[in-house]
Amino acid sequence: MSTCKSISPPSYDLASIRSALQKYLHEELIPLEQRLGLGYEDRFSKELIRSVWRRCRELGFYGIHLPVALGGQGLSYADLCRLKDDVAASGAILFPHVLGDWGGPSRIGSLVKHATPDQVERFVTPVIQGEMGICFAMTEPHSGSDAASIRTRAVRDGDAFVVTGHKHFISASTFADVAITLCVTDPHAGAKGISAIFVPLDAPGVRLEYDCVPMSGQYVDADILMEDVRVPATNLIGAEGEGFRIAMDRISVNRVLHCPTMIGLARQALHHSIAYAHHREQFGGPISRFQAIQHMIADMATALYACEQMVLATAAKADRGEDVRTEASMCKLFVSERCFEIADKAVQIHGNVGVTRQHPVEFIFRRLRMYRIVTGTSEIQRNTVAKGILSPAETV
Ligand SMILES: Cc1cc2nc3c(=O)[nH]c(=O)nc-3n(C[C@H](O)[C@H](O)[C@H](O)COP(=O)(O)OP(=O)(O)OC[C@H]3O[C@@H](n4cnc5c(N)ncnc54)[C@H](O)[C@@H]3O)c2cc1C
Repeated sequence: MSTCKSISPPSYDLASIRSALQKYLHEELIPLEQRLGLGYEDRFSKELIRSVWRRCRELGFYGIHLPVALGGQGLSYADLCRLKDDVAASGAILFPHVLGDWGGPSRIGSLVKHATPDQVERFVTPVIQGEMGICFAMTEPHSGSDAASIRTRAVRDGDAFVVTGHKHFISASTFADVAITLCVTDPHAGAKGISAIFVPLDAPGVRLEYDCVPMSGQYVDADILMEDVRVPATNLIGAEGEGFRIAMDRISVNRVLHCPTMIGLARQALHHSIAYAHHREQFGGPISRFQAIQHMIADMATALYACEQMVLATAAKADRGEDVRTEASMCKLFVSERCFEIADKAVQIHGNVGVTRQHPVEFIFRRLRMYRIVTGTSEIQRNTVAKGILSPAETV
């Protein structure tokens, strides 16, 4: 089973998909959110989240990037980036659920290549169909950027692994059913002693702790504590000791695929800023007539354009099957830093309105700040870029 992208002409019509997506977002999802009175920082029930997954699955958006054989439309990475930008820019609160980013098929990514037929049946297919949620658990309290220093242990015991450890700040764990968990299976082999294992979150010995609410205020992340959790040995993904490499393969393209979400949020902030600048009057007219405001908007739009083009070019390179490890880190670094600056300018243009809790630009500012840390900090991206340039043979 492969998620490799084809460079032959697409068998789908992107313009029709984008217009159907806009229709769903603006005529169905956002009105539903308004009817329910949803706020960014509410705790959403599993039922509500699953109903969005199922509806998006029916409409063909959920997991749309997957190959046709898996129920998707085999979207190229570049076209997926366009859709991700569209959903993030829409203003919908539940936008990360539409294409399956949070807890859905996007979490599986290239891991699907390593899944056995049994794992496809028990985990991959239910996730693709929106019946099961999944999260990716690598980080631990003492192990962040130095990901190979994890201590969660998986010890083989007959036909099972016994897993004990503490995973920290795991996105989508609050509504997921299973975690792709990175565990040490050979403590003497460094990164080559790390394996990836499906750990069901309802298994005896698993507990979630919710003491890491991020600055965005959203209830999406939790810690996963595992004590003597027995999972069948058939839950091992790939071979023993391949987990770290599998995770790093996934992370490289994922770094690119996080970018359109940041760009969409920054685009939303720019649109709010343009509208506000036209509408807000000071000193006898709209603030849009001040050159200071015009220059901020010009800088925001210029940065956005650079981010968008850089990401599309890298996604197209990944679609051609080329190595994008260095470019993926360049994108993650540049886009997260620039989009945060765009959000900062949006807050500035909005004055006191921009620092008011729950205003969209205030929320976007907090949300975009986190992206300079999530999926590898800016410093780690710089390390990867420098290594790719100075010693390319060593780039892992
Ligand atoms: C909202 C959110 C969601 C997350 N979701 C997930 C998830 O789903 N799954 C998961 O596994 N993890 C997740 N994480 C964890 C995330 O991947 C880590 O926070 C990130 O990798 C950084 O690790 P750290 O926070 O421990 O920082 P540290 O590694 O402790 O870094 C602290 C500081 O030191 C710097 N630093 C560290 N090493 C170096 C170095 N070699 N060179 C230069 N500077 C360095 C860092 O850049 C940073 O500035 C999430 C985090 C957040 C905030």
